[in-house]
Amino acid sequence: MLRLDRIHPLVSGNKWFKLKYNLEAAAGKPVVTFGGAWSNHILATAAACKMEGIPCTGIIRGERPAVLSHTLQQAAALGMELVFVSREAYRHKDASAFPDACVIPEGGHNAAGARGCSEILSLADTKGFTHIICAVGTGTTLAGLINATDGENNARRPGLPAAEIDPPAQKIIGISVLKGAYSLEEDTAQLLTQPGRPEIFHDFHEGGYGKISDELIACMNDFYRQTGIPTDRVYTGKMVLAVNKLLERSYFPPGSRLLLVHSGGLQGNDSLPPGVLCF
Ligand SMILES: *Cc1c(COP(=O)(O)O)cnc(C)c1O
Repeated sequence: MLRLDRIHPLVSGNKWFKLKYNLEAAAGKPVVTFGGAWSNHILATAAACKMEGIPCTGIIRGERPAVLSHTLQQAAALGMELVFVSREAYRHKDASAFPDACVIPEGGHNAAGARGCSEILSLADTKGFTHIICAVGTGTTLAGLINATDGENNARRPGLPAAEIDPPAQKIIGISVLKGAYSLEEDTAQLLTQPGRPEIFHDFHEGGYGKISDELIACMNDFYRQTGIPTDRVYTGKMVLAVNKLLERSYFPPGSRLLLVHSGGLQGNDSLPPGVLCF
């Protein structure tokens, strides 16, 4: 498992990579971005902007609740201005309404986000793995991973002795955490630097985005007991559950070496009642 969750407690996991080039492009301009009440992206943006000294605004889906979610409380404490808009207005959000700001799309889904994510695998020696697996929300991370392993990385370079030829193409697999989000293939493909069709599984969402099942919770607890690695309820827990089920189905050929990308998001577990998770 590639532990992006350990990079930073709040700018956790893949969000760090998605923000890197987006904040560079902001060049000091105030940042505006979008998300829901439990959005890891909102919190990561708030934390990263605080570190960089960039003012930021989060446009939050839905009316302001009487009590802010844990995520939004933390984002506000980090200095993010929170603007609540109705679900209807949120659906029609439009970057051109903020001409003087650097607008980062919801979830950091853009080319700059994918470019940052293409650096994830350089954190460790990841060449020997046959399959790289990540959770998918917008597909930005998946696109970055595919871009990093496509092309030159896996091309047989002419003239090299056989022993030095790069390992066979690594298979990058995405696990959708959303129910029936069949546009994700296209959303991901839009960010690929070479034409291709990403491989995304759609049957491990456990009821939909943010939904949990007893099986998911049991899987997260078992995984923690076996490995000491905490996963999050929205993304990485579902990825581990999916990998367990794919193993049961003998999806991976014998001899496969799997690399699971821990994309962070552990703060989302704060929304569970105490005692549900054993970590
Ligand atoms: C946002 C998030 C994802 C989804 O990443 P995308 O690039 O939007 O697909 C996965 N894991 C965690 C922990 C996240 O916070």
